[in-house]
Amino acid sequence: MTIPLIDPFRRPISYLRVSVTDRCDFRCVYCMSENMTFLPKRDLLTLEELDRLCTSFVRLGVEKLRITGGEPLVRKGIMTFFDAMTRHLESGALKELTLTTNGSQMDRFASDLYAAGVRRVNISLDTLDDAKFAQITRWGRLPQVLKGIDAAQNAGLRVKINTVALKGFNEDELFSLTSWCASRDMDLTFIEVMPMGDIGNEDRLGQYWKISDLRARLAERFTMTDLVERSGGPARYVRLNETGQKIGFITPLTHNFCESCNRVRLTCTGELYMCLGQEDMADLRAPLRANPASDAPLEQAIRAAISRKPKGHDFDYSRQSVDGRVSRHMSHTGG
Ligand code: SAM
Ligand code: SF4
Repeated sequence: MTIPLIDPFRRPISYLRVSVTDRCDFRCVYCMSENMTFLPKRDLLTLEELDRLCTSFVRLGVEKLRITGGEPLVRKGIMTFFDAMTRHLESGALKELTLTTNGSQMDRFASDLYAAGVRRVNISLDTLDDAKFAQITRWGRLPQVLKGIDAAQNAGLRVKINTVALKGFNEDELFSLTSWCASRDMDLTFIEVMPMGDIGNEDRLGQYWKISDLRARLAERFTMTDLVERSGGPARYVRLNETGQKIGFITPLTHNFCESCNRVRLTCTGELYMCLGQEDMADLRAPLRANPASDAPLEQAIRAAISRKPKGHDFDYSRQSVDGRVSRHMSHTGG
């Protein structure tokens, strides 16, 4: 029997987030600069290599796969990969296959994703105002994403909306976004902005809207029941008694969530990051490419990496500079 992955702090690793591309059809101001240089294609893992890697992780006990990016649905042939993962759902080894998307391509993919076994998707949406949407995503257009959300729900996918909390940008939409999600039976998670990568001239500290402040404003209008359920990640959940909807708060900078961390992140070039907030990583592409006929060296490399998973991250906004900042972009590690 295969021994499952357990890190030095006795945390079982059951959740893998996989970035399948660093490319995107949007240029959200907190995520990318307008003129991004993307990786050369040869550096990317092929769809077959992604399959081998994910399959190894599933063999080692990973039960949940979240596909992300960049924008996962702009990766050419991506359905081949989703379809390949279906076999792990069917065998019962994989409990959940899911993705985080900006929704722009959802209209084309929703029913195929459902057919592949995907049941829940996270769709990112920071505003319901056309002009603000174009401003924050630079290249995105709101109607396209709303169409994608319709398509996802029509296909039977449960949709959760992810909203980055941005000071002076969507503070005024807190209640309209919440009630819009409630009216469509969608849960909603607010994410605190994180110091990732060089994003050009944007003033990140200016964008920072503390989730505790957001939560306090929500409490002015709604009564909240804390939910005990934890995802093993940085999200806390409450239920709004008035609407019944679930609201999540992701506060990687102000809360210590590391003690229950069950996840690792794989980049589209095969680097495994054991912690979102640390620079240490393991190159899994080399053992993968050097051993086309055996996954044993790859599995050894995975185990060695997990044995180095750190206890926690170092983000710190408490001084007026961004310390503990990580130089890579979120689209590289996979948000
Ligand atoms: N393109 C897809 C999307 O936007 O959903 C998947 C990748 S994106 C990097 C994943 C999530 O990370 C999105 O919800 C996005 O809003 C969030 N994100 C990106 N940059 C961030 C940052 N600097 N701080 C906090 N969240 C960020
Ligand atoms: Fe693209 Fe997602 Fe980053 Fe926006 S947050 S630029 S949609 S990868």
